[in-house]
Amino acid sequence: MTQKLHIIGGGMAGSEAAWQAAQAGCPVVIHEMRPSVETFAHRTGNLAEMVCSNSFRSDDSEQNAVGLLHWEMRAAGGIIMATADRHRLPAGGALAVDRDPFSAAVTETLMNHPLIEVEYGEITELPNEGHWIIATGPLTSEGLGRAIQAETGTEALAFFDAIAPIVYADSINMDVAWMQSRYDKGETEEEQRAYLNCPMDKDDYEGFMDALLEADKAAFHEGETAGYFDGCLPIEVMAERGRETLRHGPMKPVGLTNSHKPQDKPYAVVQLRRDNALGTLYNIVGFQTKMKYGSQADVFRMIPGLEEARFARLGGIHRNTFINSPTLLDGQMRLRSRPNIRFAGQITGVEGYVESAAMGLLAGRMAAAEIAGRELLPPPPETALGALVTHITGGADAKTFQPMNVNFGLFPPVDGLKSGRRGRKDRYKAYTDRAKELWQGWLDAQEPVAAD
Ligand SMILES: Cc1cc2nc3c(=O)[nH]c(=O)nc-3n(C[C@H](O)[C@H](O)[C@H](O)COP(=O)(O)OP(=O)(O)OC[C@H]3O[C@@H](n4cnc5c(N)ncnc54)[C@H](O)[C@@H]3O)c2cc1C
Repeated sequence: MTQKLHIIGGGMAGSEAAWQAAQAGCPVVIHEMRPSVETFAHRTGNLAEMVCSNSFRSDDSEQNAVGLLHWEMRAAGGIIMATADRHRLPAGGALAVDRDPFSAAVTETLMNHPLIEVEYGEITELPNEGHWIIATGPLTSEGLGRAIQAETGTEALAFFDAIAPIVYADSINMDVAWMQSRYDKGETEEEQRAYLNCPMDKDDYEGFMDALLEADKAAFHEGETAGYFDGCLPIEVMAERGRETLRHGPMKPVGLTNSHKPQDKPYAVVQLRRDNALGTLYNIVGFQTKMKYGSQADVFRMIPGLEEARFARLGGIHRNTFINSPTLLDGQMRLRSRPNIRFAGQITGVEGYVESAAMGLLAGRMAAAEIAGRELLPPPPETALGALVTHITGGADAKTFQPMNVNFGLFPPVDGLKSGRRGRKDRYKAYTDRAKELWQGWLDAQEPVAAD
């Protein structure tokens, strides 16, 4: 191949994308701004630096969606997983990594690859020609952020996430909750029943307020500012403004009738909105929070109907640059308005080291295939990488799009299996067995990529 692939950002996604493309025979240039331009979180000039925790989370590929992602990336000869395995630290079922030797080894392997060059310096413009991947992550430099915003519009690029907790639909008690949009708004029956409602009486509400105010909260990281706007204040900050604030805000009970007890007027109502096209996930509307993870599940399970709730992800607010991928990207991860540019990593609206590297893996392979004159179809949505890319490029609701970790709620259900907590082990095993077979089939249909 003579055409080069240019990758902006040599983090988790950019490193994996470079490796995958180069292993497919495509020459690559990585443009990395560190160490000359720093971020508040990175400490070194290494590629693939782990900015905070040193964990790649669960390594269980049978019962855990991130463990399955590990499996799929290993099967694809991924550099991030191969290097993490070589620098693994004891951590029970999790994959913990010795961070400095890990990122030094990724850097060395990429710099020694005959098809990879690294150019140091910040890129601040969107390129007009050539093949590019933007993988500049949650701390994309200001200059490039502005250039992306000029292309996509202010609404489509966020600088903070405001994540409300997401609940698995099959863990909600529908003997308590009911489906109804406020004032039955909507043209179709589906729209009139779009929200899931959990009622509270006065005692429930007062108990919930106490728990919310007492819960441990996380501080903003150094360099982050609490730059959230009134429209997406953390739920506990709203509660601090007055005990009635939530009852007049996201928990207002008006326009809703409890179908289980039509005579009872709820004192407050918590609403959940569908979060994916499959209808397997619901987010708690307006419940973005800085409560620590340890406290969140306990506090949210106080909500009637959510006593047994399982969370696909907990809430958070962070400094995080990400685009509205469902509207901006096509199924090949290309910017619709400028198809010579792909996006990969956390900036696409996935979250976490592993998910970001996974999106780099796909973007690198897709770009290399395109440069070679082939089209690489996205992996099946039943695989972990396929479920993630399907979610960000179309499965997610664009209006409420927020960053997402991989989880089984993103997978199409396997027919004929028991739902709920009891059937969980068999269900997850069925998901992961199906995913492994389909992922291997997807890999086998491509040109081989050599493992490290
Ligand atoms: C404070 C903080 C804590 C986090 N903690 C965790 C955690 O504990 N666990 C976890 O899984 N995830 C964590 N994350 C998320 C984590 O950053 C991502 O999961 C992962 O690093 C994203 O990979 P990426 O390749 O998309 O971005 P990054 O790994 O950040 O890589 C992006 C690269 O692009 C470079 N870059 C940016 N702008 C430009 C430019 N204009 N020109 C050239 N280069 C540029 C950056 O220097 C960087 O090297 C955290 C994020 C932050 C901000």
